[in-house]
Amino acid sequence: MTHLTEETLNLFLDQALAEPEALAAQAHLAACPACSASLADLSLVFSRLETLGDSQIDLDLGPRPCSG
Ligand SMILES: [Zn+2]
Repeated sequence: MTHLTEETLNLFLDQALAEPEALAAQAHLAACPACSASLADLSLVFSRLETLGDSQIDLDLGPRPCSG
């Protein structure tokens, strides 16, 4: 069995895979605990990045004197 690469898993999370590849990836993930675990790890990183992005935007919009 060929395992999914990290790149494929990233694209899968991004929903950027073409349909046949996405279906193949889904089938593999259903059958392969190792790749499901990798996908779970990656999706954790993804949601953390999103959270970080949000708080960074908040910081950038903080009150700031308008003199320049
Ligand atoms: Zn696998």
